Amino acid sequence: MSNVQEPSFRESVDLMFNRAVALMDLPPGLEEKIRVCNATYTVRFGVRLRGKIHTFTGYRSVHSEHMEPVKGGIRYSLGVNQNEVEALAALMTYKCALVEAPFGGSKGGLCIDPREYEEHELELITRRFAYELAKRDLIHPSQNVPAPDMGTGEREMAWIADQYARMNTTDINSKACVTGKPINAGGIQGRVEATGRGVQYALQEFFRHPQDVAKANLSGSLNGKRVIVQGLGNVGYHAAKFLSEEDGALIVGIIERDGALVSPKGLNVESVSRWIRDHGGVTGYPDATYVEDGASVLEAECDIMIPAALEGVINLSNADRVQAPLIIEAANGPVTAGADEILRDKGCVIIPDMYANAGGVTVSYFEWVKNLSHIRFGRMGRRQEEARHLLIVEELERLSKDKELGWTLSPDFKDKYLKGAGELELVRSGLEDTMRTAYQSMAEVWRSRDDVKDLRTAAYLVSIGRVASSYRAKGL
Ligand code: GLU
Repeated sequence: MSNVQEPSFRESVDLMFNRAVALMDLPPGLEEKIRVCNATYTVRFGVRLRGKIHTFTGYRSVHSEHMEPVKGGIRYSLGVNQNEVEALAALMTYKCALVEAPFGGSKGGLCIDPREYEEHELELITRRFAYELAKRDLIHPSQNVPAPDMGTGEREMAWIADQYARMNTTDINSKACVTGKPINAGGIQGRVEATGRGVQYALQEFFRHPQDVAKANLSGSLNGKRVIVQGLGNVGYHAAKFLSEEDGALIVGIIERDGALVSPKGLNVESVSRWIRDHGGVTGYPDATYVEDGASVLEAECDIMIPAALEGVINLSNADRVQAPLIIEAANGPVTAGADEILRDKGCVIIPDMYANAGGVTVSYFEWVKNLSHIRFGRMGRRQEEARHLLIVEELERLSKDKELGWTLSPDFKDKYLKGAGELELVRSGLEDTMRTAYQSMAEVWRSRDDVKDLRTAAYLVSIGRVASSYRAKGL
């Protein structure tokens, strides 16, 4: 898959950054200050497992501290290395700036295949890693707040939160040291599906702007659009599920580790996901055509391609064969800098990662605020809102009994209108608002500047501009 001429992931991010700053007028030297990673900490620690000491290598990279805490996930994968963690930390800086989450960028990783370990072993490893990071303030509610990423989830975040709390027994804000926790350990409703939900909101917003849709040679709405998704993990699964169940999109292809499933009439995401859970892969799934060379399906005909797995999957070796007119980067860095140029020249529109997958960190932000305020969203206002709605409903009911007026309430109006917003409704509303606002700030630059040819450059311009102004405000 990889190509000799292909730059590394971090070089790819730097190249895209450079393309954007060339169009900006930054004070001398500030460009480099923003581009470089401030610090990367490497830790090697031992854990006794199965009668032997195993040594693990982990990283936490801090890209920019123009705002603190810095934020970003912790990934468990054998592919983790310093270069990757630094690229991902840089993307976090730009992502947070774009969606106005008040954080700098950071990322962590542990070089491990989590599937090789039992749950209690993973707990020991995670707690030891968390200990190493927390003792250097690389996990800290006001300095560095990790979250889930590839290979980690609620369970790992709960262990990290507990480990931090054990080390900081009097810190009243200790729960805010990490986000993506389960509800019963200080998490927030809607965080698990947040990144996938964000991808859905991003596409909905894109399709609200016919002039942008036309640039991708598409028209109409999401209804009936043919979608291929690569990776049915947390992000890909939720994005595909919501788009097919709520927006009428057809999931015509699902690419997984062991091959791909293709079906022109649309795949049932829920049942494919269940099959993967029960059989360890897509092989043998009955209601679709199986393609052994999964990566070839990245080149299949469709309206929307959603790479939701690894970085660099669309690269110099396959970009010219990719047919999708619209790509939305649910993963971080799935399109290399070289492929990005080829696709742009072909007229393909790419909704860039730093925007497309920002739903996760957005809801992480809400979770962090919830932890610091020590109260669930909606707890104070919900019943009061319902009581006021009840006043209106009762008044309308009284009027609808008036034969002369002759009108009645729709059967479900009362129930729908009476329901005050709880935490989940508020999280969704906040996420939707964030995705819509961020799209508009990015698309506005794309539409209004002749020298900005793509959404990624537009997104970089907005976020680098924001990071730069926050440095300027600090007097740098
Ligand atoms: N790992 C996710 C990302 O790449 C979420 C980060 C967070 O919630 O802090 O954006």
